[in-house]
Amino acid sequence: MKKLIKRLWFQVILGMILGVCFGLLLSPSAFALVSSETAFKIAPWIALIGNIFLALIKMIVIPLVLSSIILGITSAKSVEILRKMGLIIAPYFIFSTLFAVTLGIIITNLINPGSYISSNLINQISVVNVEVEKEVQNISIPDLIVDLIPVSLAKAELSGNILAFVILAIFAGVALINLKEEQSKPLIDLAKSLQAFSMKIVEWAMKLAPYAVFGLICSITIKIGFDAISSMLMYVFTVLFGLFLVLCYYLSIVYLVSKMKPMEFLEKIKEVQLMAFSTSSSAAVMPLSMKTAEEKLQVPSSISKFVIPLASTVNMDGTALYQACAAIFLAQVFAIELSFFELFILAITTVGASIGTPSIPGVGIVILATILQSIGIPIEGIALILGVDRILDMCRTTVNVTGDLTASLVMKRLVA
Ligand code: ASP
Repeated sequence: MKKLIKRLWFQVILGMILGVCFGLLLSPSAFALVSSETAFKIAPWIALIGNIFLALIKMIVIPLVLSSIILGITSAKSVEILRKMGLIIAPYFIFSTLFAVTLGIIITNLINPGSYISSNLINQISVVNVEVEKEVQNISIPDLIVDLIPVSLAKAELSGNILAFVILAIFAGVALINLKEEQSKPLIDLAKSLQAFSMKIVEWAMKLAPYAVFGLICSITIKIGFDAISSMLMYVFTVLFGLFLVLCYYLSIVYLVSKMKPMEFLEKIKEVQLMAFSTSSSAAVMPLSMKTAEEKLQVPSSISKFVIPLASTVNMDGTALYQACAAIFLAQVFAIELSFFELFILAITTVGASIGTPSIPGVGIVILATILQSIGIPIEGIALILGVDRILDMCRTTVNVTGDLTASLVMKRLVA
């Protein structure tokens, strides 16, 4: 038992269960042990460690992504191998994202979670939504595409546009590999040191993970209480079921390319999955994913150093599936019939949006606004799904990182 308590995964799960229990005890719309005023006052304090934890991770993502991609590219043995890997990985990412989106659309239409929402809850939406709306206005797909080129790094940093840093890092890496060693060495050494200190900070942040999960889940449960949770259960189930199917898809790909049995693969990658679950950030997990790919999955380091940093920032099938499910769910809630053409637009927009989603906690839902706008679903709906987003973020990030490791095995098979 003592051993179990020391394990991080156990502490995180315990944090989550205790978070829900305490949250329900305090929530005005559940057991209401304290007055609603007191409950809402203490909720931000309970969430404090969690929010510090998320802020630490967000703070460190840009140096981590930048240095890891530069090091990944410069570690390639030759420009030729680099080109070959790039040409295989891009269509692979697009295909698997499209697969996840299509799956999301199909299962949400079959399960129809929107029909379980009471009209009472829909009426409350516009009241809670002001904050979300402020955050999401002005995001459109063309803007996202233009923002890809980091004309101003300060602007990209301010708007949290990590993809811009990915593009910069790719240019920097490819340029460095084409320079003489004495010219490239200082910058490569700088990248190594940048990566090392970022990893140290992630390591510190991880010590807070169980308390963070407890605090965040508890404060959310206080805010949304029983009613909201129960009517959202079908939606949560739909997303989780979809994520499970994406996981099965990965397991079959892994078996096809490496003959590794599903349980064996899951056993080898469990620490990566747990860290993704606790941090809700594919980027924060990236160093551990690289280590796991090399040491446990025997992926050559020239491949893992290239594929994992890139995959963790652009390959997000879990997020893509979630965004598709959420969009269809909200269409059902608002009784909006989507034509085949609109579903097509939804699929394409979601593929682009998930690629552009930064690999940090909780942004999949912000980018979702773009998708909703593209097919005319009121973005007020985001307020409805915000309450259960933390737990879905943890689960979709777990699937995202599994996809990154799967991609490294695919590359190993095709390139090595
Ligand atoms: N948290 C997710 C990730 O880092 C992104 C999202 O919000 O969907 O993979």
